[in-house]
Amino acid sequence: MPSLFIDGTWTNGHAARRDDVINPFDQSVVQAVDLADAEDVNAAVAAAKAAFAGEWFRTPASERKALLLRVADLLTRDKDEIARIETLDTGKTLVESKLDIDDVTAVFRYYAGMADQDPGRIVDTGMANVLSRVVYEPVGVCALITPWNYPLLQLSWKVAPALAAGNTVVIKPSEVTPLSSIKLVQLLEEAGAPRGVVNLVLGDGPDVGAPLVSHPDVELVSFTGGLSTGQSIIRASADTVKKVAVELGGKNPNIVFADADLETAIDYALTAVFLHSGQVCSAGARLIVADSLHDEFVAEVGRRAERIRLGNGLDPKSESGPLVSAAHRAKIEAYVASAQQEGARLVAGGHRPDDPALDKGFFYRPTLFADCHRGMKVIREETFGPILTVERFSDEAEAIELGNDTDYGLAGAVWTSDMGTAQRVSAALRHGTVWINDYHPYVPQAEWGGFKRSGNGRELGPTGLAEYREAKHIWHNTAPAPLRWFKG
Ligand code: NAD
Repeated sequence: MPSLFIDGTWTNGHAARRDDVINPFDQSVVQAVDLADAEDVNAAVAAAKAAFAGEWFRTPASERKALLLRVADLLTRDKDEIARIETLDTGKTLVESKLDIDDVTAVFRYYAGMADQDPGRIVDTGMANVLSRVVYEPVGVCALITPWNYPLLQLSWKVAPALAAGNTVVIKPSEVTPLSSIKLVQLLEEAGAPRGVVNLVLGDGPDVGAPLVSHPDVELVSFTGGLSTGQSIIRASADTVKKVAVELGGKNPNIVFADADLETAIDYALTAVFLHSGQVCSAGARLIVADSLHDEFVAEVGRRAERIRLGNGLDPKSESGPLVSAAHRAKIEAYVASAQQEGARLVAGGHRPDDPALDKGFFYRPTLFADCHRGMKVIREETFGPILTVERFSDEAEAIELGNDTDYGLAGAVWTSDMGTAQRVSAALRHGTVWINDYHPYVPQAEWGGFKRSGNGRELGPTGLAEYREAKHIWHNTAPAPLRWFKG
């Protein structure tokens, strides 16, 4: 079956080029997909533009709401199939994939609930003959560009609010993991999305992403991915003055005070960073521990890291899967080498697994480095892999200083049993999400996004919908009369 979806039709695209999608567990081919080119991008944008100008713009909000609810029902119906696709494509465990699909379904339900809730507002001008109101309108054609680590989840944060607000969309998933996005578009079609409202183009950044971002008829780009790609997208959007929202990387502090519940803090230090092999934008990759706890804490985290069971994501015994690609593993290996050159002390991991059953996969052992400091590359840059570094602090001020000493500002956590410490530190951290005595949870109702170089704009919550709306002020003079400013 063709895998591009343009103007309501599944197509192979102009170039008739295909690419194999690889299972990172064993390098087997999961499926071949069609690749788009600039001509397909033009066709997809034209379809989205025509659909926006046509009936979709005037579709009652209640119909958009019903569409999103039907998609949520279909996601529930096909949950097991989609979770399997996500695991084959990304390598993550099936348990994680199923949680992802539950979250995706919740996002569709949340934005369905918001689609018809905000008809705008009346403005009090104090003038009896004026009716002034602010209404919210869709922006137009939106380009939605997503990364490979949470393919469907990241897409849902964009497509659900974009459609709830009445936009039309062109979706470009990561070329590494496009399969669950294809499935979602099939479900949108089955749910009754009108022709041209949803379009899907597959391919890499230069061939497909770049022409989409620079296209004059695309009014908004919502991008999730790496910092340097985000910077080039912001630059490329300047000529046509698009709205741009970018969700980028993180270098997230996980701060443990001496009065924390140690067993829980140790347990979460591992899940904070090693979940999905560290390929999580909010991964707690910088463990920042109180001096008095340091040695005991690090030794125990190291012991447990050595015991993490790597394997096929489809095997229920696996606790973590492979990295997504050979290129990504090579990047992680380079970070490990640089940390060692800069004097970090290796406590756990630091190599590929010895198990011959994992030889074909892109596996790397969970790795722990102690004696790290802020000058090191492994502390300053997002590795996006299973590498946990440890720094230490002597007092609260130093903990805050370390937690904020990063160009990024996506997420962080503080572990303490003292209410005052918890509140002061969470208030002082310059990150978009701060967890207290927890790590990783998020809900569709609460905004997600970054301070500083972790991005601009917000996804989820009411702000995640506002990103896809224009505010229009309509002023109605109900008793017009000449002003006579100019006397002639
Ligand atoms: P990436 O930047 O390499 O690619 C992301 C997407 O951009 C892909 O679809 C890619 O094809 C496309 N792209 C590449 N060049 C482009 C260009 N010039 N124009 C338009 N599109 C282009 O990122 P990745 O490696 O897929 O994902 C990992 C990154 O994503 C990490 O840095 C991670 O922190 C970040 N991320 C952030 C969040 C968040 O919520 N802040 C969530 C998930 C991932």
